[in-house]
Amino acid sequence: MQSSDLKNLKIAVVGAGYGGAAAAKAMSLLGADVNVYEQANQIREVGAGIGLRPATIDRFRQWGIFDAIAKVSSPSEYFEILTATGEPIMKEAWPAAGDQTHTHLIHRGDFIDALLGVLPEGMVHLGHKLQTVEDKGDSAVLTFAGGKTVEADLVVGADGIKSVVRHQLFSDKSPVFSGEHAYRAVISVDDAHGMVVDDNLRMYIGKGTKIYLLPLRHRGQVSFDITALCPDSIWTPQVTKDDLLTTVEGFDERLVSITRDLDMDTVNIRAVYDIDPVDTWHTDSVVLVGDAAHSMLHHQGQGANSAIEDAGALADALRGAGSLKEALALYQATRKPVTDKLQAISRQGWTEDEINDVFPGQKPAAAAAPKE
Ligand SMILES: Cc1cc2nc3c(=O)[nH]c(=O)nc-3n(C[C@H](O)[C@H](O)[C@H](O)COP(=O)(O)OP(=O)(O)OC[C@H]3O[C@@H](n4cnc5c(N)ncnc54)[C@H](O)[C@@H]3O)c2cc1C
Repeated sequence: MQSSDLKNLKIAVVGAGYGGAAAAKAMSLLGADVNVYEQANQIREVGAGIGLRPATIDRFRQWGIFDAIAKVSSPSEYFEILTATGEPIMKEAWPAAGDQTHTHLIHRGDFIDALLGVLPEGMVHLGHKLQTVEDKGDSAVLTFAGGKTVEADLVVGADGIKSVVRHQLFSDKSPVFSGEHAYRAVISVDDAHGMVVDDNLRMYIGKGTKIYLLPLRHRGQVSFDITALCPDSIWTPQVTKDDLLTTVEGFDERLVSITRDLDMDTVNIRAVYDIDPVDTWHTDSVVLVGDAAHSMLHHQGQGANSAIEDAGALADALRGAGSLKEALALYQATRKPVTDKLQAISRQGWTEDEINDVFPGQKPAAAAAPKE
């Protein structure tokens, strides 16, 4: 699109998570008139770490925000998979893209603060919970709780796994329970019983349980994450320290000790869901990005990274295509084949044996319907 057309383009982004913030940054760099509407009154992220992959880091360099991210993250060389008791299974360098581009490990809270911190003042409007989205062809109208309405040439639905935009315009299917729980906490390296020796991500695999240690050197901390098969599909289940200790039975004694020492008030506990692939991500004036479009399980560590790549691809398409309509089709054609595959691979996190142990005779997704 011509830069004069882009400058006249009024864009409303729903959701100020990684996808929404990144899309807002990328599209405002094109000169578009961007506003972001977020339901929360205050942005808060889960206490946990994630790895930002080279393609994500490349986008940050392109957008001129690499330094803001580098300040609050540590580069990492490789990840390692070990048995529950610490025997190495495999060790692999993170896929690289050129000399400069490493995977960076970051705290989720620092990541969203850094992304929102590079947006122009006044672009993000907190306390705006989207209730309805109406597609009028050449524009779309958002109505928020309280009755405020906003009309835009392009609405970007970046409102996460329970997306209202997706649900009202693209798919009425509910999220799918994966049959697993995630228990996540960030602790001091001093409390890690000597298990953090460098900047690399380690995953310990036991039967039906995985433990991730993701160092956050710049904070003197490590993200300690347990993922375990569990039939309880309540989104925020009640889980006790004893439950956690049962989950990590048989792991390296030091991992058990870390678990025993956890302050349960700081542990984020949730059942893990994804969505089935959505056939169409856009109309002529509304488009989905991030989890709203393709929420995936975390076994490949690609959900947030995909949201950033979506934002970059959407901006590329707006710049490269002849019209908004063409741009949205190009964006979907570029990204959907990639995320369809990631969604499918990410569902292969466990062996048949492990699944049969917890869900005898049935697949986890069929084992329980979503419950709030
Ligand atoms: C256990 C676990 C571990 C993970 N580990 C990794 C990892 O290692 N690497 C990785 O890349 N990804 C990981 N992910 C995935 C990652 O967290 C998500 O893919 C990512 O958060 C998606 O970003 P998003 O911006 O699309 O959605 P979200 O982060 O969910 O943001 C959506 C935003 O929209 C807002 N919103 C929702 N509804 C409305 C509404 N009606 N009106 C206005 N605003 C609204 C929300 O408040 C939120 O701020 C993990 C996920 C889980 C569950």
